[in-house]
Amino acid sequence: MKLFSARLIKHNVHFTRPILSRVFYFSSSTTITVPEISVDYLIIGGGVVGLSIAERLSRRKGKSVLLVEKNSRLGEETSSRNSEVIHAGIYYPNDSLKTRLCIRGKNLLYSLLSSVSSIPFSRVGKWIVAQDNEAEISYLQNLHKKSKEIQVETYFLPQTKINLIEPYINAKEVLVSPTTGILDSHSLMNYFECKLKDQGGDIALKHKVGNIIKSPQGKGYLIQIENDKSSLFTIYSKNVINSAGLFSDKIANYLLPPAHHYKLYYVKGHYFGYRGVVKTNHLIYPVPPKNLVNVGTHLTLDLSGRIRFGPDVLYQDDPDDYSLNDDRIDSFADAVKTYIPSIKKENLYPDYTGIRPKLQGPGEPFRDFIIKEEIDHGLEGFVNLIGIESPGLTSSLSIAEMVDEILLDK
Ligand SMILES: Cc1cc2nc3c(=O)[nH]c(=O)nc-3n(C[C@H](O)[C@H](O)[C@H](O)COP(=O)(O)OP(=O)(O)OC[C@H]3O[C@@H](n4cnc5c(N)ncnc54)[C@H](O)[C@@H]3O)c2cc1C
Repeated sequence: MKLFSARLIKHNVHFTRPILSRVFYFSSSTTITVPEISVDYLIIGGGVVGLSIAERLSRRKGKSVLLVEKNSRLGEETSSRNSEVIHAGIYYPNDSLKTRLCIRGKNLLYSLLSSVSSIPFSRVGKWIVAQDNEAEISYLQNLHKKSKEIQVETYFLPQTKINLIEPYINAKEVLVSPTTGILDSHSLMNYFECKLKDQGGDIALKHKVGNIIKSPQGKGYLIQIENDKSSLFTIYSKNVINSAGLFSDKIANYLLPPAHHYKLYYVKGHYFGYRGVVKTNHLIYPVPPKNLVNVGTHLTLDLSGRIRFGPDVLYQDDPDDYSLNDDRIDSFADAVKTYIPSIKKENLYPDYTGIRPKLQGPGEPFRDFIIKEEIDHGLEGFVNLIGIESPGLTSSLSIAEMVDEILLDK
């Protein structure tokens, strides 16, 4: 314990409590140094998914869990730059992980939200609106049929009711998804963080993973960590869960053979707020593009009823570029005008951006989440989560459940 205390002070590790674990000593021919801390589960990334996984694994008695996050606060990247929508799970191929985990995640989330009072949410419901256009109307009919197949409730609104309920909305047909909702994602992350700490798990902020190798002693991994003072030290972990969002491909590629490297694309979405008189009580989504690169530039509400529009789609090279391009205001106004004709471009104002970690390159077809232990490459206990874009927030609890199952006896 003395060794720990000394190193913790030196490295300014923000552990919530000292980790009572074994310390491994052995030499390594790489730049990775002698490990000073040993844990059973190391989770890389303190977004909503990493936090949910860490919380889940920390329920295991007698096992140590450490989450490392490179930023000075949790959830500063994709997890706090999204639409905060609890998705119903109706858009993706029926047999995809996105469908399965979204539906399961939504159910787990609603049952959590109704049992705790600390996470604001609202089951507002969503309208998917088709214009007087055969392709859009047939899309809604197919979506309704598909929803039935996967047992997610949707129904068509009688046309006479559309403008009675939502006077600002222009639509020929409306498919209602009553299980869609919104939540406060920061409160959800805060909930995971508190539970993780209560259950004995640890969090190290400002700690960036810079390399990983297999432990020369056989089982487990040596993880090189860089802290905010740029000093390096090494952690040994029996299992490593890579939940590093936009950087998860880089983390995975430290260990995978080059022929099996992952590649993520960074796809920015802009959001614009609205200061005009438009009011709606539902989330309003247009019919999405065919390749599902997103679910359309939609209208979302926050929990105070404030309207925002977004996100659009912009492939870019830099995973850290959150700049908001005002030029996009014209294309936004055009996209939104189709379902809210009274929208005025001058009332739109730049709000924020988020970046999707996408496996799908420009013009390519749908890609599913990748959540797998890399056993095929001899990497037992190394679990990668790649391409965790939407509906990752909705699926955070079911993804954690899946990772828990993958690591059942580990
Ligand atoms: C525009 C947009 C809208 C969306 N809307 C919705 C929605 O309405 N509903 C929904 O369900 N989902 C939505 N999503 C998806 C959802 O936001 C994500 O799936 C979810 O936030 C992913 O969480 P995460 O923990 O995997 O990733 P992140 O939140 O990105 O967390 C990863 C963390 O890893 C850390 N990290 C990276 N590299 C390292 C390293 N080397 N060492 C240590 N730490 C590291 C990062 O700093 C980061 O904090 C949306 C996404 C976007 C971009």
